[in-house]
Order: sequence, then structure tokens, then C-alpha cells
Amino acid sequence: MARVSVLLPLPLPEAFDYVVPPEMVLGLGDVVDVPLGQNVRTGVVWALKPDQDGSNLKPVLKAYGCPPLSGPLRQFIDFAARYLVTPPGQVLAMVLRQPDALGPGPFERLALASGVVPDRLNDARARVLEHAQQPIARAALAKVAGVGSAVVTGLLKAGALREIERPVDLPFDIPDPTRPARPLSDIQADAAHLIGKALASGGFQPFMLDGVTGSGKTEVYLEAVAKALVDQPDGQILVLLPEIALTQAIVARFEDRFGAAPAQWHSDIGPAQKRRTWREVAAGRARIVIGARSALFLPFAKLSLIIVDEEHDTSFKQEDGLRYHARDMAVARAKFEQATIILGSATPSLETRLNADAGRYQRLVLPSRFGLALLPEVDLIDLKAHPPERDHWLSPLLVQAMADTLARQEQVLLFLNRRGYAPVVLCRACGHRMKAPDTESWLVEHKYSNRLVCHLTGFSMRKPDACPNCGAKDGLVSVGPGVERIAAEAVETFPDARIAIFSSDTAHNPQAVRELVGRMEAGEIDILIGTQIVAKGHNFPKLTLVGVVDADLGLKGGDPRAGERTYQMLSQVAGRAGRADRPGRALIQTHYPDNEALQALVMGDREAFIEAESLGRAAVGAPPYGRMAALHIMAQTDDAVDAAAEAASAALFPAEGVEVWGPAPPPLAMIRGWRRRRFLIQASREVDLSAFMAAWRRGFKVPGSVRVAIDMDPHSFL
Ligand code: ADP
Repeated sequence: MARVSVLLPLPLPEAFDYVVPPEMVLGLGDVVDVPLGQNVRTGVVWALKPDQDGSNLKPVLKAYGCPPLSGPLRQFIDFAARYLVTPPGQVLAMVLRQPDALGPGPFERLALASGVVPDRLNDARARVLEHAQQPIARAALAKVAGVGSAVVTGLLKAGALREIERPVDLPFDIPDPTRPARPLSDIQADAAHLIGKALASGGFQPFMLDGVTGSGKTEVYLEAVAKALVDQPDGQILVLLPEIALTQAIVARFEDRFGAAPAQWHSDIGPAQKRRTWREVAAGRARIVIGARSALFLPFAKLSLIIVDEEHDTSFKQEDGLRYHARDMAVARAKFEQATIILGSATPSLETRLNADAGRYQRLVLPSRFGLALLPEVDLIDLKAHPPERDHWLSPLLVQAMADTLARQEQVLLFLNRRGYAPVVLCRACGHRMKAPDTESWLVEHKYSNRLVCHLTGFSMRKPDACPNCGAKDGLVSVGPGVERIAAEAVETFPDARIAIFSSDTAHNPQAVRELVGRMEAGEIDILIGTQIVAKGHNFPKLTLVGVVDADLGLKGGDPRAGERTYQMLSQVAGRAGRADRPGRALIQTHYPDNEALQALVMGDREAFIEAESLGRAAVGAPPYGRMAALHIMAQTDDAVDAAAEAASAALFPAEGVEVWGPAPPPLAMIRGWRRRRFLIQASREVDLSAFMAAWRRGFKVPGSVRVAIDMDPHSFL
């Protein structure tokens, strides 16, 4: 009897063996149904076992018709599981996320003009036939032709329309790499040429594309994609973006260049579209996929090129469930696929830079903006020397610059990475701060919706009239600014200006984003006030002044990347100014004008910043010079969480080059009632930190009510 090991998409330690029924032929990577306990589960053939008496094993129940998961994908899953210290089934679960794409897809019945001319051809009938030159659903046909359903039925009876059956999930249009491209600048062409050479020779070839905002990185990507389409006719291309807000603009540029819309994969497409993308990707027919980080786990038949745009962006790190960094995992996947990978950014991460400096990645540089556009001039406003008026947040220097900009009929962007009106609400009488009931975080006041909101869990409540702690009436005051409060100040200072807020509250879906971006591009907004959502990607030709309301926000806290992140965020946001023919300016308000990251921005000297930041991190062995991990313990009571943390502590063993701090409550010591304790682990680069974490984790047990999570390379320290 033939046997197979089947990996199930569940957090189980290993794959289970099953016998293969005589009539079934299975290969590695085939997707099958198997019994598990009382249930039937879908899994993947992970190993073929020699024939043996398997009488005590249960049989495989069913094999699906979808293509098998490729060898490189299976190797990648095993690698990711080991690296992330998680059961391989948990990684597989990321791949098998579209169960309805595994079997034969749904069909739909459509009407199509047959060419037969009906006896009585009146206007209504003629309109229907005109709209039925392409297959179309009967109801939709009646609607576009503006007729009742009886007209359509009549034409079917008369034989002028026929019904056809067709799969709902159609292949994507085939991109055409031979369509005319814009001529590249010499430096863009050099970069594209080197990538093209790598694609032609094949094999794993990582590139860092280091290009300032507006230097034309996207043009280089398009050229690389065109090369990949031609050189590797069965190869597929994956473009990973950090924000779905950016996909529409990129999708449009790809469509423009290749005459076909790429397949998409992100949280904003519906289940039917996901099913289609998954199926077409697995079949190898979808040649180009643009998606968010989870697109990395799509079942590509053969990947030839991966592009990670804005590789430094922290949204590539998933912080719950499977805790992975999509950029790092993309490099690993490219290795198994023997593919070319491009990590592009205007503000590359120190990790990527170090890899390039060490010769592991080939570095391509686009040093200046395309055409005549210049990078903006950056100045700091020392808030100690030039403070805003009482209960105001904009320094007189910034207000003056705004007035000058508006007088020139140009646009202003004010940047503050804080949603809502005020980040904290407290009682003047007793000092009580309004907190979420089950989470250790302050409630943020939102004036427009008149609610206090927990940004972590979504909990919200009406703002009470009296303090819930001491009962004082009208004593609750709003402390500090959010974008709504800055907007109120802008309205007060510039009553004639057209002012809008751009945050996830006002731009909650891609359509709202498009609408706001459209108004800004059309010059219908004078002052845009935005959170980090405005910092990236957008191109507003009349925007010439960027004001950063509070540059110090990101500098606090125990995050080793705080300085780097501030630098990246502020240079991205400053990069919004002066994209076209008008020079731009950025004014940054701060209490710490001597800060290295801010000084580097003013000097436009990124290398100086990188050098200082590298030295600082190397000195303490922080990433990327050392490795980090976090071990989180969560439980519903303090006693339970402390007992589990104690058990974890007791299981720790000394290892050379490894330091462990904790357990300690992190800043967010409770989320949704879950009490949290954390260990932080730092190790030298020579240490196999995944192996250390796995051994430690095997050494202690916790009750089923306690959660333990390991985060390799943590990016959030809350
Ligand atoms: P990045 O991705 O580096 O921010 P983009 O590719 O978006 O830069 O280019 C910035 C602007 O310059 C865009 O408006 C783009 O259309 C234009 N641009 C870049 N390269 C070229 C080129 N070779 N020919 C024409 N326009 C270009």
C-alpha cells in the first residue's frame, strides 16, 4: 500500500501519514482531503513514503484537481516555519486561504447573440442584440438594453440569442511587454539593464534599488517586468506594496504599460476575485500579481521576479497570527524560486543597506528626481524658541510660511501622525485619564463622530458629561492635538482656505482615497492635514509646503529603530513637496533640533544619518548588527500570566551570545482583557536564534488558557 505524509494547515507539530487508495495516484504537493479525528481536513502531500503495510492508517479521501504546490513553495514553507519558530501547518494555512479555488470553479450561464436575425426586429430587440455581441448575463443584458426580461426570453426562444456556459473565473488578460515604453533616462536605463542581465541569466539575484522619491523607481520596475515577461515566458511576477491605498495608482501604471490589468491580491478585493486570482496564479496563467504582504503566500507555479516596493515600510511586518516580515520572507522565497528580487525604496532600511554593503545585494542608485524636479529644502522650527500661541500647535513661523504659500495659490500639507482630535482626555478635577475598559491604552477623542475611541481594539463610547471617576461635571479636557484639532486651528487661522483631513477616518476605503487625492490634484484643497497615509506615493504638483506638526512623536519609546523610522517617515512626507516644476519646502517643528535624524534631513545628508545610526546600533548589537526576538505571554488574569512567565523563565538556559531581558509588562500591558508579559532576546548574528527560541519554547508548558507567541525580528515594541 502506498503511503503519503500530509501536512495540514493547522498548528500541529508535524505531517501525518495516510494510505493512498489503489485507484488514486498522488504526487508531492497535491492538495487532498484526509480524515482527522471526526473531521475531514484539506492538506498537502508533503512526503511520499515507501510501500508498507499501512493497515492501521486512514486513507486519503479525495484529491483536488488544482495544480500541486511547487517544490520551491514547499521548501519555502518549511524554511519559514523553522525561521519563525512556528509549526509548518501555520505557514501552509497562509497558502491554502482560498478553499473554494481548489476544485473545479463555478460556471455561469450567459446569453450571446447567435447571428440569427429574428422575424420581428423592433428597437428593443435590436438594442438587446447589440449588447449581446459579448457573452453577458441575462439580467445584466436586460438592464443595459433597458428592456424587460420578457424581451430577452423572446429572443432566446426565437434563436437570436443562445445560452452558453462559461467558467466564472476567467483568465486575466495577457500583458504585452512589446507595447511602447517611455524612454528611460540614462541612469534609469543602466539600472534596468543590470536587472535585465540578471533575469536573462536566471538564478537568485537580489537587488537594492535606492532611489529618491520621484526618481522613477516605478519606471525601472516596469522595464524589469517587461524583460521578465519576455525572457521567462512561463515565469510569474509578484509586486508587493506596503499599503493597499497605493495599489490603484500602480495598477493603473501597469495597465497603461502592458495593456492588461494585473491580478490583485489584498484585503480590499472580494472573495470571488480572490478565488480567481488564487486559481490563475496556481495555474501559472496570471503573469503579474500586485498585492499586499500576504500575496507572498500565493501558490505561484514559477516565480521569476519579485519586487518589494518601499521595502523599508513597517507595514510589511505582520504583528499577529503568523508574525513575519514580508520583505525578508520575499528574499527567502526568491532564493528557493531562484528568482530575481528588487527591494526598492527612497529611504532604504538599514537591514537592506547592510546587505548591499556586504555584497549580498547588488545596489542600484537613482540619485536625483526625474526631469527638473528638485528635492525640497528642509528647515527645522525650534518650538522652544518659536512656540505656538497658548492652546495652539502651529508655530508663528509655520503660519507665516503657510500664508505665503496660499498667497501664491499653492498647496500646503500639514503632517501629524495622530488620528482624531486629541490623543488623551483627562479630568481637570481628579486627573483621571479616560481609558478603554479592557485595554491599557488611552481613549482618543474624535470630535466629528463625538466619540472616544480605542485605536487598538476599535472600542468606542460617547464622551461622558461627567468624569466617570470623580463625577465632576464638565471637567473633561482634551490634551494634545490630533489631525482634527490641527484642522480646527487651520480653519481659525485661514478662514478662507479650503481645508481637508486625510486619515484612515476620512479615507476609509480606496474610493474615498481616490476622491480626496483627486480633489487635491485638481487644486480643490488648499490645506491638507494628514496622518502617515499621505506620506507615501502621492504626487501633488501644486503642493509646495509641507509642515510637520510634531517631529518628536516617533522618537520616544524603546524601539531600536525609532530614529530610522522618524527619518524615513519625515523624508517621505517632505518628499511630497515640490514634485513638479515648483520648488518645495518642508518645515519641521521639534523640541530637539539637535537630533541626528532631523539634522540629517536638514542637510539632505542621508549618508551621515546612516553612518551615525549604524554606529549607534552596532555599538549595542541592535539589528541589523545583532538579531532580536520577543517572547510574548498572554493570559486572562495577572496570576495566570505571571505563573506562565515564571515557567518560561525557569526553562531558560544560558547560551553564548544570547541575552534575555524580562519578563516585564510591555507598554500595552493589557489588550482586550489579555494581560501581557514579554521577554526581549538579543543575540549576535552568529547565533541561530530560531533554534535557541525553539529549544526554549520546548522546555516549558503552559495551560491551554495561556497564549505564547514568538516574534522573530520584532518591529513593534508596544
Ligand atoms: P518613484 O517611483 O521613484 O517615486 P516614479 O516612477 O513615480 O518615481 O516617477 C516620478 C515621476 O517622474 C512620475 O510622474 C513619472 O511619470 C515621471 N518619470 C519618471 N521616469 C520617467 C521617464 N523615463 N520618462 C517620463 N517620465 C518619467
